[in-house]
Amino acid sequence: MVYHKMKAEIIAVGTELLMGQIANTNAQFLSRELSEMGIDVHYHHVVGDNMQRVVELIQTVLKRCDLIITTGGLGPTMDDLTKDAIAQALNKEMVLDEESKTEIENFFSMIHKNMTINNMRQAYFPEGSIILKNPNGTAPGCIVESEGKAIVVLPGPPMEMQPMFYNHVLPYLSKKTGSFLRSKHIKIFGMGESSLETALMHLIDGQTNPTLATYATGGELLLRVTAKAESEKEALTLLEPVCDEISEILGSKIYSYTNESLAQVVINKLYEQKKHVSFAESCTGGMLTSMLIDIPGASNVINESFVTYSNEAKINRLNVDPATLEEHGAVSEQTAAEMAKGLREATGCDIAVSVTGIAGPEDAGDKKAGLVYISLYDGKKATTIKYQGRSNREYNRRFSSLNALNMVRLCLLGEQ
Ligand code: ATP
Repeated sequence: MVYHKMKAEIIAVGTELLMGQIANTNAQFLSRELSEMGIDVHYHHVVGDNMQRVVELIQTVLKRCDLIITTGGLGPTMDDLTKDAIAQALNKEMVLDEESKTEIENFFSMIHKNMTINNMRQAYFPEGSIILKNPNGTAPGCIVESEGKAIVVLPGPPMEMQPMFYNHVLPYLSKKTGSFLRSKHIKIFGMGESSLETALMHLIDGQTNPTLATYATGGELLLRVTAKAESEKEALTLLEPVCDEISEILGSKIYSYTNESLAQVVINKLYEQKKHVSFAESCTGGMLTSMLIDIPGASNVINESFVTYSNEAKINRLNVDPATLEEHGAVSEQTAAEMAKGLREATGCDIAVSVTGIAGPEDAGDKKAGLVYISLYDGKKATTIKYQGRSNREYNRRFSSLNALNMVRLCLLGEQ
């Protein structure tokens, strides 16, 4: 059956949500995705781990909508009851899925742990379910169809739920709505959200298909371009010219077309060029190095970094001239440049980057909180940038780290 305007409701299951221990970000994510598909979301519900209440809620909601999406309550313990509640609400049996059973057994033998009997609960589904694999966890999801309506059952952790949505639910719903959605996730650094919108105003104004949406996430900008068509091929054909135009306008401000983080892109480029990087961090205090080390594969491109917070550390570890510190101060272009040069000598890395700044929230004499210098030295050329952040310590440290990563990226592109 093909729906043209589906009505959906989202049910988040979990007592910790009701107690305010976690925020219901799954509902926000799902609502945004469904509305982009042209599916109307009429209600969000949160219900605790209580069989009777979940069963009643499913029965009530199913009467008035075409699609229910649940998240949470798929774990192995007795309070994980979403699938049982759905089976009970629809009067269906719970049946064992052999493939899921084997996968759960393989998972436990891989991690060398004994499987307890309740882990097998994750391999049981309401009869007739379409099983959705979960490569990011042990609990598979499922889709249960009943009288032309569908209940999509997803795990709670966003890291498991979101890929399952994109890989299985989106194609399933595309078929039901008769339209295919394809998105390009373009990541941008070096401009604010409002400058981005201004630069793309002619594309954003009056957009219908593809649509453009911008999201700012902790200093990194995401532009999502989404096309809707009757086939995947047609959607990709609609996306191509718009993405080409965006690429022409934004140039090297774009660092990824596939939603990678800046740190991931920097690691990939360093690896391709067989180069090593080191950081001398003052106000970022290790955050910059940590952003790289968060990504698997970092050991191929980074051997060591220094946290040189005090003047003594800058002199002893990086050979900064005490006279430079005396004359210009620790937060200055001159000190940043000497830190980067000294770092390259001390570590033998290809690209040395130093960060020195006033993290805040207090100003330091005539230097305002948020004043930061970042210097990069690759053995041929030294580049130092200065920028003025805010009085927010966390923001300044994070933004300085991202700026430093972006300098490495531009250097690797030959745009230093
Ligand atoms: P698991 O497979 O890990 O057992 P589950 O499907 O049983 O997952 P829950 O046990 O309900 O899910 O929740 C696990 C975690 O997922 C929660 O501690 C929370 O971090 C996250 N989570 C659950 N529901 C939501 C939600 N609605 N929004 C955001 N995060 C959520």
